[in-house]
Amino acid sequence: MPQRPMDILIVGGGIAGCCAAIALTQTGHRVRIVEKQEAWRFQSSGIFVYANGLESLGKIGLLEDILAAGFLVPEGRNAYYDHVGQPIVETRYPTADAGRIPAILGIKRAEMHRVMASRVAALGVPVQLGTTVTGLKDGAGGVTATLSDGSLARADLVIAADGVRSATRALIGIEVAPRYTGVGVWRSVHRRPPELTDKIMMMGPAKRFGIMPISDELLYTFGTVAEPGDSYYAPADWPRLMAARFSEFAGPAAPFLAELGAGTEVLYTAVEEIVLPLPWHRGRVQLIGDAAHASTPFMGQGGAMAMQDAVVLADALAAHDTLEAALTAFGRARFPVCAFVQDVSRAVGEAGARETGDPSASHAEMRATAQDKVDGFYDRLRTLTEAGGLGR
Ligand SMILES: Cc1cc2nc3c(=O)[nH]c(=O)nc-3n(C[C@H](O)[C@H](O)[C@H](O)COP(=O)(O)OP(=O)(O)OC[C@H]3O[C@@H](n4cnc5c(N)ncnc54)[C@H](O)[C@@H]3O)c2cc1C
Repeated sequence: MPQRPMDILIVGGGIAGCCAAIALTQTGHRVRIVEKQEAWRFQSSGIFVYANGLESLGKIGLLEDILAAGFLVPEGRNAYYDHVGQPIVETRYPTADAGRIPAILGIKRAEMHRVMASRVAALGVPVQLGTTVTGLKDGAGGVTATLSDGSLARADLVIAADGVRSATRALIGIEVAPRYTGVGVWRSVHRRPPELTDKIMMMGPAKRFGIMPISDELLYTFGTVAEPGDSYYAPADWPRLMAARFSEFAGPAAPFLAELGAGTEVLYTAVEEIVLPLPWHRGRVQLIGDAAHASTPFMGQGGAMAMQDAVVLADALAAHDTLEAALTAFGRARFPVCAFVQDVSRAVGEAGARETGDPSASHAEMRATAQDKVDGFYDRLRTLTEAGGLGR
């Protein structure tokens, strides 16, 4: 018999936590979230959601609202240029569900979170902001969590969706340090000129600069570059530093780099990865999202993996007699998919960071192979996802 309705405590209200709360409430469980931020306050900048992530959002009933809040790139187009703006090649991302799910959406992160948090609230899921978990005691009758306000919360299942630096992961004795990848990402938000509708990727010498529409009014840019591991940059300096890092870029990047100044929304992130073998659970505590498998951002798939985790976990709980069997099945279904994304993303990032000298050979290779690589990646991703045998 599938799992009876359970009391589930979710730690962290990001993409993974909100999507899991929605999926699990919809499948009959009683869910609550604790989130350490005092108020919902989500990072500036944008995010892409590819068809596989959009498909998961469709499964939990969020697709329409997310599409309405973001920007669909026409025909999933991705235009590649060199760093001075000479075109290299154009590729298209695949749609899903026989074209019913679009190929790629850009959306402001805060907008995506607004949609997710509104649905969590509409479903009546209690969210305790400004709260963390400071202790976990797993016993025969369930888990007793000590919350940072001193209260106790009993749960049949605790879901750690508290991101790359998950404190819950440490509480259950999983010792894994986030690995700094050597890459820093600089992101900025700008007004979108109406004619700029495609995703743009500019291939610089050991640097990349991307431009992505995120609404009718806005776009965001993202530049990746090697940064020392111990670097700290004061936020007030971010606009100036971003402009300096990518000063050799011209063409489509030029107007946005020229705009960077004190009034621009700029965000710097040193990219970390979590590479963790199974099991991703201990007893009644399950890791999902970045807490289990944070990836480098080169394939833009971390958010989609968190969305898929939510759907697959809800399905695993519905399909298995015991919690242990459900959590084991969840890990087995998700590990190959998330590891594939991590491996490809890491390889793409490392290859890009090594590239110096005359780029003409690599651009010629891109012209010959870029679309096949996109199609190959998404075919393999779908095969691995379906092989998990889970997912509505
Ligand atoms: C530069 C960059 C660009 C990216 N671009 C993309 C992209 O285009 N597309 C894409 O799909 N993915 C992208 N990603 C990846 C994506 O952002 C992550 O995979 C995704 O945010 C993971 O969601 P999450 O909910 O697991 O973790 P998070 O988004 O980190 O959310 C964790 C939540 O838990 C809360 N929390 C943390 N600690 C505690 C605690 N102790 N107690 C309670 N709450 C806690 C946090 O406040 C937060 O709300 C990118 C990542 C980076 C770094």
